Amino acid sequence: MPTKYIFFTGGVVSSVGKGVTAAATGLLLKSRGFKVTVQKLDPYINVDPGTMSPYQHGEVYVLDDGAETDLDLGHYERFVDIRLGRFSNFTTGQVYAEVIAKERHGDYLGGTIQVIPHITNEIKRRIGLVAKETGAEVVILEIGGTVGDIESQPFLEALRQLRNEVGRENTFFVHVTWLPYIGATQELKTKPTQHSVAALRSIGISPNMIIARSDYPVEDGLCDKIALFCDVDKRAVVPMVTSQVLYEVPLLLEEAGVGDYLVERLGLKASIKPDWGPWKRLVEQVKKEKPKVRIAIVGKYVELKDAYMSVREAIAHAALSLGLEADIQWVLSSDLEKGKGWELVKSADGIIVPGGFGSRGIEGKIQTAKYAREEKIPYLGLCLGMQVMCVEFARDVLGYEDANSTEFDRSTAHPVIDLMLEQRAITDMGGTMRLGLCPCVLQPGTKAAAAYGEKLVEERHRHRWEFNNAYKEEFEEAGMTFSGISPDGLLVEIAELKDHPYMVGSQFHPEFLSRPMRPHPLFVGLLKAAGEKAGFKEEK
Ligand code: GLN
Repeated sequence: MPTKYIFFTGGVVSSVGKGVTAAATGLLLKSRGFKVTVQKLDPYINVDPGTMSPYQHGEVYVLDDGAETDLDLGHYERFVDIRLGRFSNFTTGQVYAEVIAKERHGDYLGGTIQVIPHITNEIKRRIGLVAKETGAEVVILEIGGTVGDIESQPFLEALRQLRNEVGRENTFFVHVTWLPYIGATQELKTKPTQHSVAALRSIGISPNMIIARSDYPVEDGLCDKIALFCDVDKRAVVPMVTSQVLYEVPLLLEEAGVGDYLVERLGLKASIKPDWGPWKRLVEQVKKEKPKVRIAIVGKYVELKDAYMSVREAIAHAALSLGLEADIQWVLSSDLEKGKGWELVKSADGIIVPGGFGSRGIEGKIQTAKYAREEKIPYLGLCLGMQVMCVEFARDVLGYEDANSTEFDRSTAHPVIDLMLEQRAITDMGGTMRLGLCPCVLQPGTKAAAAYGEKLVEERHRHRWEFNNAYKEEFEEAGMTFSGISPDGLLVEIAELKDHPYMVGSQFHPEFLSRPMRPHPLFVGLLKAAGEKAGFKEEK
């Protein structure tokens, strides 16, 4: 059976949930027994999102192999429950870097290098790679941005060529659009959808399905109109009314017949009937009234919630598994330094200090760790959150007042968090951190070991600095336990406080491996402790 390709393009406006729709479609096919993979093509010129500001791009999602990718890959992994790799996401920057390197190397034998065919060939090569590497029967492919953007043109052209090369019967184009609502006349409008389909057609692509997002119910007549004006089968016009529950999207698409339609149109043969029982129960659980626990996220980029997408999802997964609802309080750590926002921290049942870079707001995070330690508030530190927990401990328990990470104070006399030797010589910022999956041995009898119920785990990393082993003994004598260590014994992976209900910090990012049906143990540990603090017993 040839590989089948389902392409997702966006029309009208961005942020209409194209990534979630693509991810949910992946699940529709996986639940019919197909081997599915998902790839995101990002038309911006950065080589990867690793060096982009979270304000620009939201969270950087890290994969097993250390690729720093777009946050949509988090949706793919969470919905389809797969593990993706570095071929699953590429940008214009990567494509050009490759082509230019080949040109410098003389590989083109003096030919003139052009968008067509050199750039489009490289795009197609990378699409082919993901199918080959994963052996997927169905490749779901999302193009970032909106049709009409200058940057996305070579990508769309490459898809048009690919369609002819692999055969029309093996490709399917889904265009995700938006139906604006006009308040004065109280109606939804299809015109922008028509225009964006026209733009897509002008580059030679006719969509096979239109998924029209809307905040209001979409009448049947409107779907007829879209079908007629956009030349799409009526069954392939899918209205998607905004759902409050993210994980309901696959169920809504299934109900709209998207799964069966794709199987039919791509000539696939489903080996199993989808069982939506677990997803339905999950969605019911989300919609149910549940006891609330307040979790404060003390971070640097809290104004943009997308910057902590996976952290937010991991909290939700853990809370759901315990029959709780997490009420997230967003706290800007630099506000805490000015004495603002403390009421949010003080009213929280649990605190998370997530990952981050750079010194802004760092003292606010250290003060938060102090508060959590002294007041015995459940605390989970993620990467930087673990580092500040150690800095605070060194300052206030060991009495090293100027203790710090050398990221924030190069000349501190007590560098309890320091650069690894091999990181010191690095001057390039992109892709030079300790990245991706690394093993961690759990120390028996610790909170972390109890949470995982395992001896050896592998977690995803993205950082430069490490706990400085010169201080290990002193920390241990004063009540900190290093409950997760790299197998060679050299790197601290998890630190926790002995005399505390739950103060745990991990040098890795557990949030990237949390799944709706398989919440991450360290987050479950935090939510359990927070639930107990709030006075709730586990409801199951
Ligand atoms: N800035 C810290 C480091 O590089 C923490 C990184 C993070 O939180 N992801 O080690």
